[in-house]
Amino acid sequence: APAPPPARHLFSDPAEIDALRGNLLAWYDRRKRDLPWRTLAATELDADRRAYAVWVSEIMLQQTQVATVIDYYNRWMQKWPTLQALARASLEEVNELWAGLGYYSRGKRLQEAARKVVSELDGQMPRTAEDLQKLLPGVGRYTAGAIASISYGQATGVVDGNVIRVLCRLRCIGADSSSPAVIDRLWDMANALVDRSRPGDFNQALMELGATVCVPKAPLCGECPVKQHCQARRRKLFGKPTPVPDVEDCGVGGCPLCPPAAEPWDSSLGVTNFPRKAAKKQPQAARTATCVLERRGCHGALEFLIVQRPSSGLLAGLWEFPSLPLTQGLQEEKQREMLADYLGWPMMAGALRLIGEVVHIFSHIHQTYVVYSLPLDEDMTMDLALSPSRWVTEEEFHASAVSTAMKKV
Ligand code: SF4
Repeated sequence: APAPPPARHLFSDPAEIDALRGNLLAWYDRRKRDLPWRTLAATELDADRRAYAVWVSEIMLQQTQVATVIDYYNRWMQKWPTLQALARASLEEVNELWAGLGYYSRGKRLQEAARKVVSELDGQMPRTAEDLQKLLPGVGRYTAGAIASISYGQATGVVDGNVIRVLCRLRCIGADSSSPAVIDRLWDMANALVDRSRPGDFNQALMELGATVCVPKAPLCGECPVKQHCQARRRKLFGKPTPVPDVEDCGVGGCPLCPPAAEPWDSSLGVTNFPRKAAKKQPQAARTATCVLERRGCHGALEFLIVQRPSSGLLAGLWEFPSLPLTQGLQEEKQREMLADYLGWPMMAGALRLIGEVVHIFSHIHQTYVVYSLPLDEDMTMDLALSPSRWVTEEEFHASAVSTAMKKV
């Protein structure tokens, strides 16, 4: 078993833990933001309905800002106020409501999980973090902990990006915060710290602190309710200006939680020395030719052809203009030929008009869409390997389950 980390990276004094919990909860009671899922969770008496309200918010908030989520959340809860209602929805409806929120598999898995609760678990939500994670697709350790603590009062911690930042600063953890060894330590710490009588509030308070005070670039340490427990702040105030080797660290190169010896504490960064992450991988570059086919519909309005993507993989089940992945460095003429072939009209290659390029960054892909247009005079028959497909007006396009990238196109 690995040796326990040095005491400076832990919370081991029960009096300090009590004080930290008290200060954080008192601050949360005074300063917490009014958010629709909090209002719902606070007023909903039925624990399973509360769990559903928290669950939807947690899935939407993964990778997405609070300000963006609020409107989606309100519309979702209005349309499917219970998980039974969600279980009856079609994937198409879910994708339509989710359109623009990104990471579309989240909505799909939420709905699959709701169906599973209804059909296999007798309509009863699992009530512990362990069961939630084990039984519900798309529910990871963090989401399970959030649902169990906020809805069922289980004294279990949570670790998300905000919590990682706060804990790394509180305990001067400068090793790579995305490494499994550090993440395991942070979970241990979150579980040890969580308030036993108000676990849900405590977890939300810790996340709220990270979102509003202990922010990534310019944390507001002067206003921080736990500043007296913060080792990064102490070090900023009292640390040595050029510590090489750094006597504040546990032993250069020997501690699994200190900054690596090659990148010691940088006094110009202050508390933002923590957390640290290994350099991100560069996103992969991809090019796709996409064709906006348009025609006059029977009422004279312009219509566009959209086709549905496969039901698995990136943007699963979403609708898009007919699109074809391209190899890098392909000449325009060749692109036209391939696209025309793909549309089933090889003879139309010359009629495709190049409009321009649209770049969209997915989490791990730097995607360039090379956009062509093709106005059609009549309803030509299409032999699309591209089914299902449908013609939509601009208004219908925007109400369909299409990605933000396609809206840009
Ligand atoms: Fe974060 Fe500053 Fe508070 Fe420490 S004192 S937890 S660095 S805001």
